[in-house]
Amino acid sequence: MVFVKTYTSLVSSITQSVQVFRSTLKFMKNKNRNTQVSIDFENGVIDGVLKQIRQSGASGSDPKIAKLIPVWCCNIKVTETKSLLVFIKEMLTPFDEVSLTHVKRFKKESDEQQGTFLRAILCSGDLYGTEGDLRELFREHCAGVDSQHLPIYKTDIPKHGAPTAEISKDWSEKYWPMSWKGNPNHQVLLNADFDVAKERTMVNATLDELEKRAGQHPGDVPVVTIIATPQHEILTTAYDHRDTHVLKHSVMNAIQQIADLEVQRRSNRNAVAGEEDSKANNNYLCHNLHVYTTHEPCVMCSMALVHSRIGRLVYIKSMPSTGALESNYQLGDRDGLNWNFETWKWIADEENKRLDAIMEKSKHELASNTHI
Ligand SMILES: [Zn+2]
Repeated sequence: MVFVKTYTSLVSSITQSVQVFRSTLKFMKNKNRNTQVSIDFENGVIDGVLKQIRQSGASGSDPKIAKLIPVWCCNIKVTETKSLLVFIKEMLTPFDEVSLTHVKRFKKESDEQQGTFLRAILCSGDLYGTEGDLRELFREHCAGVDSQHLPIYKTDIPKHGAPTAEISKDWSEKYWPMSWKGNPNHQVLLNADFDVAKERTMVNATLDELEKRAGQHPGDVPVVTIIATPQHEILTTAYDHRDTHVLKHSVMNAIQQIADLEVQRRSNRNAVAGEEDSKANNNYLCHNLHVYTTHEPCVMCSMALVHSRIGRLVYIKSMPSTGALESNYQLGDRDGLNWNFETWKWIADEENKRLDAIMEKSKHELASNTHI
């Protein structure tokens, strides 16, 4: 048994050993930092400390059931394949925001009337509003296909690749031929690119702030949020002031502080005439920033994180009745919202115990119905 790190807490090591034995574990060389991280693909855990929180892994969602999206299709003769591929490559795929690489482009069919023909996926269902618009595009840009008599229609296909080869085969028979390239979430875990030592420092920075504050401000709900750049530069640290205003949760305060910094930055830049401001047209306050907070955020705070377009959230403690990520709603990667962010829970025993101890010291146990 090789441990990547030596933890000071014996309990933490034991917990990690149990996790290691339970699951398939692979050690990956981090290409950028020459450090090793272990990835538990089965449970979505990195180095035994960061647990991936995502909608499809939430309790109640069955990975065998495909989420479906509509796509535009057409039927062509086999001899028209080449022209259609060029048309798709030049006129549709570059403008399509939905990736369709998890399905095969063609499906071979035959019937008595048409003989052998191909059903082809053209693009996502949202790219064109009507069949007439697509037909017009064919008429103008795809001379190799008989656009006048072309059957164009919508069909539903799985939105994502299947989690296992067996399910992929099942979906291929039920919906549309799938391209099996391994579990798509494994690639997400491989690409997560964590410097775990730095993540631990950031998590402890929230706890340091919480500890400083504990007991000094009796009205506070003990929650701290830090917003940082992906390079771990801390931009702001926020406490919770809901005792003074109902909306002043820690996460909301942190986003407000980023807004204040941006107002300040813009007014400073305006003083320098003639300089181009590369951020002036970016209206998303926290675009791709990383957020560290002690407790799982509530619905209001989670939606504020969606709207400000953060890149990643790390929190320590779950809030089963009010949390809006792993506990309810899965707002970090919920279908239908126009932004998703990575959500990770810091599960290391050491920091979780430290948080519990600070909460105990602050004598302010959070009621189970407190919205964080
Ligand atoms: Zn909140």
